[in-house]
Amino acid sequence: MIATSLDFDKPGKQQGFLQVPCSHNLSGWANVFIPATIVSRGKGPTVLALGGNHGDEYQGQIALMKLARELQPEMVTGRIILIPSLNFPAARAATRLSPLDGMNMNRAFPGQAEGAVTSQIAHYLTTVLFPLSDVVIDIHSGGRSMEFVPCSTMHLVADRAQRARMLAAMLAWNADFAFLYADIAGTGLLPVEAENQGKIVVTTEMGGGEAVPASVHRITQSGLRNVLIHLGALKGRERTRASLGQRPTILTQALHREDYLLAPESGIFEIGLDLGAKVKRGQTIGFIHHLERPDRAPEPLVARTAGYLITMRAPCLTQQGDCVAVIAQEVSAKALLKINVPAS
Ligand code: ZN
Repeated sequence: MIATSLDFDKPGKQQGFLQVPCSHNLSGWANVFIPATIVSRGKGPTVLALGGNHGDEYQGQIALMKLARELQPEMVTGRIILIPSLNFPAARAATRLSPLDGMNMNRAFPGQAEGAVTSQIAHYLTTVLFPLSDVVIDIHSGGRSMEFVPCSTMHLVADRAQRARMLAAMLAWNADFAFLYADIAGTGLLPVEAENQGKIVVTTEMGGGEAVPASVHRITQSGLRNVLIHLGALKGRERTRASLGQRPTILTQALHREDYLLAPESGIFEIGLDLGAKVKRGQTIGFIHHLERPDRAPEPLVARTAGYLITMRAPCLTQQGDCVAVIAQEVSAKALLKINVPAS
């Protein structure tokens, strides 16, 4: 159902839109316009780079808009498809979920051709854009609800060769931390669909909260470019952490439920550590204060595993069951490549 004037096979630079039918009370025959840019020249990989999968995560959207304006065909070897604001209605509304249908783009895969707007976009990626692509980059941050230490991320895919290439691309982001995550909150994720199609999938969590420091914009933008160079889609010299005079990326994983701390009750969340800090098992990492009973001692939040504080809840006001912190353990690249994962 999605229409576009873009020709994915045409060399050169094109700016256009994906148009999704959206009939509503005030506009019976409307389309949602999702901006997209294609820059294509010669032989090389096809990279699909996405921002705004969640609308309130703007770091990647800015990085992709800047790249879309700057890229010229002579800078590219292969094809780069850039969609800065994938869930465009959500990006315009500063919400995680689409205001049109209440759906979470990152739980909508594989999608439906004649479903709600979010589901149609997911279906278009599943059936048109992923099959065209060798690599899928999906730039996230914590949005309004979480704040991460800026990190590139990945899933532990079963295919070892795919995993090794994903690991190398994740490290090419050159962030201080890299993070292997587990899906504790549902299925239907965009990266999982792309992984199942055999793609090299590169994802991030570039900070979060509503205030974005300049350093987070810098690592989002420089990491994206370096990964595109690493993948052979953008001309230039790949930078390594060592060449930048930085220590190696700390590789971490949180693959077990115990690594994810959920608020045991509602109240006001106070974090007791800085993001990226080392955490011991049994350490109190924060508190939930009782809004209505300040005379009661606050509920301590105790780490069940040791590692690094990789992310925390951004707003202080917290409901029971909100994820307030994730503790990720350090893992070596060698160990990560050896982990046995049953194919799903
Ligand atoms: Zn996100």
